Amino acid sequence: MKNISILGATGSVGTQALEVVAANPGLYKVAALTAQSNSALLIEQARAFQPELVVIGDECLYEQVKSALSGTNIRVAAGEAAISEAAGLSGVDLVLTAIVGSAGLKPTIAAIEAGADIALANKETLVVAGDLITSLAKTHGVSIIPVDSEHSAIYQCLVGEDYKALEKIYLTASGGPFRGKDRDFLANVTKLEALKHPNWVMGAKITIDSASLMNKGLEVIEAKWLFGLETDQIDVIVHPQSIVHSIAQFNDGSMKAQMGLPDMKLPIHFAMAYPDRISTDFERFNFIDYPELNFYKPDTSTFRNLDLAYTALRKGGNMPCIINAANEVVVSAFLQDKIGFLEMSDVIEECMETIQFIAKPGLNNYLETDVHTRIFADELVTK
Ligand code: NAD
Ligand code: MG
Repeated sequence: MKNISILGATGSVGTQALEVVAANPGLYKVAALTAQSNSALLIEQARAFQPELVVIGDECLYEQVKSALSGTNIRVAAGEAAISEAAGLSGVDLVLTAIVGSAGLKPTIAAIEAGADIALANKETLVVAGDLITSLAKTHGVSIIPVDSEHSAIYQCLVGEDYKALEKIYLTASGGPFRGKDRDFLANVTKLEALKHPNWVMGAKITIDSASLMNKGLEVIEAKWLFGLETDQIDVIVHPQSIVHSIAQFNDGSMKAQMGLPDMKLPIHFAMAYPDRISTDFERFNFIDYPELNFYKPDTSTFRNLDLAYTALRKGGNMPCIINAANEVVVSAFLQDKIGFLEMSDVIEECMETIQFIAKPGLNNYLETDVHTRIFADELVTK
């Protein structure tokens, strides 16, 4: 039995992870579950999976969750610090980080310090503080197993390989709902159009990131830290069908790709089961349904975010943290109809130019950068 905690249990990744748990009786025991505000679903999940600890981020909802679970053996807590406490619960083998945004940083640190392996969905944590997180994981002898489908693909391609023989990787991108559109078109798109992803059903933030190509930018930074690559070893290729999940190219010119239908349950299941492979009844890919798989160069003059992310990665220091915080603010502003689709990149760029650059940041620098960038970006979006 693997003892597993799920942070962000009520979200798109979290709920699918619990489906994997439910489909594999006897394999997983749920230790802790956390959510920010969906108390009704968290209560339902707690009753079904009987974890040791349940945490609701929003403290106003504590009484509701506490009284709903009274009479059970489940301990209930609330607030930001309690989420980190849940992440650091002792005796846990694997913590699935499925929180959205840089809010995942502190709980991920707590989980690593407690010695649990990390199934990492929360890519923003590696974007904000990849150097710190990967070196902390090394110190504590903890594995970080990616859940993001592209990174799971590369990870699967690298099983049994020497990482030093890896020449470069290609991360595939669907191109999102606006693939092929120009800037005139993008100037007027609405959040409802942006929220319609062609291949994946995901949380709102990552769906907007996919439409703006920022998701791929964040994934380039995530890949650097997961696989110890230089920026020039990471390439992005648009592949609208989302069947080839990513490609590893080795120093002899050989390439390995991992393929499958676009279903997040597969990389979630892989990360939970690793190093084992456990059979599933997930729908299988059929070549006859896909007579064509296409690959294109990304249009970075229309979708500027991908280039901004590469710039941030080349600059290093706290620049990826700046880009992440600015992006969280602009996505939220776009979802509230405060700014247009194209303005998101403008605000991010202005934050990159304005917020103080720190070449060798520590944790406190990252936390301060996150706060300062959010304040400045907020001013820009409410102007
Ligand atoms: P989501 O919005 O559906 O769920 C987010 C979860 O985090 C919820 O349980 C919510 O309660 C919790 N949460 C939100 N804000 C929080 C805060 N401030 N503090 C603590 N908890 C908070 O998001 P998602 O689509 O499941 O994505 C989760 C993470 O996984 C993101 O980092 C995303 O980039 C990554 N990811 C998601 C997918 C996908 O298919 N959804 C694919 C690849 C990677
Ligand atoms: Mg992805």
